[in-house]
Amino acid sequence: MARAALLGLALLCGTLPAAAEPLRAVATFSILADLVRAVGGPDVAVTSLVGPDADAHSYNPSPADSRTLAQAQIIVVNGLGFEGWIDRLVRASGAKAPVVVASTGVPTIAGDPEHDHGHDHGPASGSAPGAAFDPHAWQSVANVRVYVANIRDGLAKADPANAEDYARRASAYLAELDRLEGDIRAAIAAIPPEHRRVITTHASFGYFSAAYGLTFIAPQGVSTASEASPKDVGRIIRQIRRDKVPAVFLETIADPRLMQQIARESGARIGGRVYSDSLSGPDGPAPTYLAMMRQNLRAFAAALGPG
Ligand code: ZN
Repeated sequence: MARAALLGLALLCGTLPAAAEPLRAVATFSILADLVRAVGGPDVAVTSLVGPDADAHSYNPSPADSRTLAQAQIIVVNGLGFEGWIDRLVRASGAKAPVVVASTGVPTIAGDPEHDHGHDHGPASGSAPGAAFDPHAWQSVANVRVYVANIRDGLAKADPANAEDYARRASAYLAELDRLEGDIRAAIAAIPPEHRRVITTHASFGYFSAAYGLTFIAPQGVSTASEASPKDVGRIIRQIRRDKVPAVFLETIADPRLMQQIARESGARIGGRVYSDSLSGPDGPAPTYLAMMRQNLRAFAAALGPG
């Protein structure tokens, strides 16, 4: 009987088509692309429009991006005004794929009104609401749980045949996020409370700050599109001296010169490079979201820690 069943199974398999092509997914930037890969596994082929070490705020889409979107079977965006260029690009490309807004349902925090200078920075960022919301919601692990659920549901809808695999990979990834969050809380707890102050180029760690209790101060607002004014820079230098802020950090997507000037004039140390809006390339220290968060944590702990 077992043999007959096996034979039946073999016959059935013989009638199935060869392994299906992976679903073509397009994510707007590298962090999101990594989350889609984590949930999609081999069932999804992911393309990121904005690559590693690049700035999605001020991105200028190319004609090739338009063709990539037109071919997509699912499009995953951050939302919250992060990719001010995406709506028009999707329209222009004629893409028919469903668009998943990964941040849907996260508790948002407001942008910094002090930095909303109301500039129009040309066609690339003109439609971005800019400082209405802080778009960097992925800097809180709790929010990334929501991202992962939205990505899982979006993939399952676009590709129901693999829904179980998406669900299985998403729950495995959620367990990794739990471990990551525990490690973040432990590392911050080991930093003396009076050292829990950090300067970064642009205000990209608001969600990290709200979730884990490290204070971030930045001369630029929540978008890199508006430049820091000499007044902003002067204010930060005075604040560093007054509050004895131990370290300033370079962001990989930002010009290092502003932070170097601030370090020089305030006497604060440069605490290394942190990843706010982008992963590193595959050979760098932050090729995935999990590695990025751990890399930033190491940089903060090393510069601010007790010893
Ligand atoms: Zn940013």
